[in-house]
Amino acid sequence: MEVTAMLERIRIFDTTLRDGEQTPGASMTPEAKLLIARQLDRLGVDAIEGGTPITSKGEFEAMRLIASEGLRAEVYGLARVVKGDVDAVADTGAKYVHLFIATSDLHLREKLHMTREQAIERSLEAIDHAKSRGLLVEFSAEDATRTDLDYLKTFYRAIQDAGVTRINIADTVGIMTPPRMFEFVRELRSTLKVPLSVHCHDDFGMAVANTLMGLEGGADQAHVTINGLGERAGNAALEEVVAAVNLLYGKKTGVDSTLIYQTSQLVSKLTNILVQPNKAIVGDNAFTHISGIHTHGLVAQPLTYEPIPPEFVGRRRRFIAGKHAGTHGIRAELEEMGVYPNETQLKEIVSRVKDLGDKGKTVTDTELLTITREVMGITVEEAKRPVQLAELAVMTGTKMTPTASVRLVINGKEFSSAETGVGPVDAAMRAIQRVTMDLVNVRLKEYRLEALTGGSNAVAEVVIRVEDKDGNEVSARAANEDIVKASVEAMITGINRLLQQRPKRRD
Ligand code: MN
Repeated sequence: MEVTAMLERIRIFDTTLRDGEQTPGASMTPEAKLLIARQLDRLGVDAIEGGTPITSKGEFEAMRLIASEGLRAEVYGLARVVKGDVDAVADTGAKYVHLFIATSDLHLREKLHMTREQAIERSLEAIDHAKSRGLLVEFSAEDATRTDLDYLKTFYRAIQDAGVTRINIADTVGIMTPPRMFEFVRELRSTLKVPLSVHCHDDFGMAVANTLMGLEGGADQAHVTINGLGERAGNAALEEVVAAVNLLYGKKTGVDSTLIYQTSQLVSKLTNILVQPNKAIVGDNAFTHISGIHTHGLVAQPLTYEPIPPEFVGRRRRFIAGKHAGTHGIRAELEEMGVYPNETQLKEIVSRVKDLGDKGKTVTDTELLTITREVMGITVEEAKRPVQLAELAVMTGTKMTPTASVRLVINGKEFSSAETGVGPVDAAMRAIQRVTMDLVNVRLKEYRLEALTGGSNAVAEVVIRVEDKDGNEVSARAANEDIVKASVEAMITGINRLLQQRPKRRD
């Protein structure tokens, strides 16, 4: 197969707010959509598809908010080749319309009850109308990949001559394979003059591969969604396409890759759709290392087992100690916490971690620290943290404001404070932040809660990420049957880490 080089600069058209929102259960309020649009704009996508304004008042309002936000990205609204749809887009104040009509015989016959000629006619009318409303048009042939190729060429030429700015090739039901996608796009590229875009679905798990091959075939734009959200199995994931274009092809997009992870987290939160742990780039485990051999290599040279530097997508490497744990991984993990055992102590710590691993457990940071303290015995002072919890009290109920008071021992001196919050966890976190403000001025960047076991007495694991005013970031975790205690423990661990990171020393 002859390989056409991918263009130097690939455009990213994000449809998280349109196709992504068509994920079952992902419906969002206009305000949530606006928050995501702002983040996508910061991320640096070239185009944001905000929604389909004709569908509901909420959709119209969301599009209106996004279009009037003054974003740098082009803001598109989706419209069928119907006057009312186009008017709805124009009325939101958007300057760009994404028009579409299905072109496969199957869709024309069974869904639209239209002939091939009628589809062209209707499309041309809609383009004219869009232009009369001052809109720039990107035009999609829905189900393009199942459309008769000769007809598709005729269709696209007619659309092109009507003056659209870009033509999109939709693999609506994800039936392409990478080599077929390459040939298909290359063939269309050779017959058309306007820029081309691809829109791939993941029904066979090939959305990203097909997208990349479409780009190799001569398209200059990819339709993508954050976390691969989208109808059915979803669309090509922005994070995967951008990482591949950058790191595997050495080409550029406008995306600031270091904002990918926080964008993924925001979308996950606002759609309530969790990211699968083993998802590429943004999954929980994507940069977590558990095996001893791997962690040994990683500590020596990250490239050994990390094809993507975690910082590239705004993340950090994480080690988890378990039965596969090795000396190097555990040493690295302890040093992250500012603890430096000697060789004999380290061997003993590793052996205890492996024993727990054999019983099917992984060891949280707190447990690792507890083991370390036990093992280090009289040198426990070395493992001692500058900030320790002396007392915690929380009050919450139905007719009162949740309030927490904490007493901390900081470098041997006691300090205390009480704060209110939206709930007991919030109140406790605020109280800790208040007490340690002069010391570290910590900001909570991320908070995640997981139940490790079932039942109301479940052990909850809290994972947090905190940042100090200099932008240093650390994560910390803690597990407890009491959610407030787990949260407080994680927060204090995080603060200690930030403090201990400052003067880094190595034995
Ligand atoms: Mn789609």
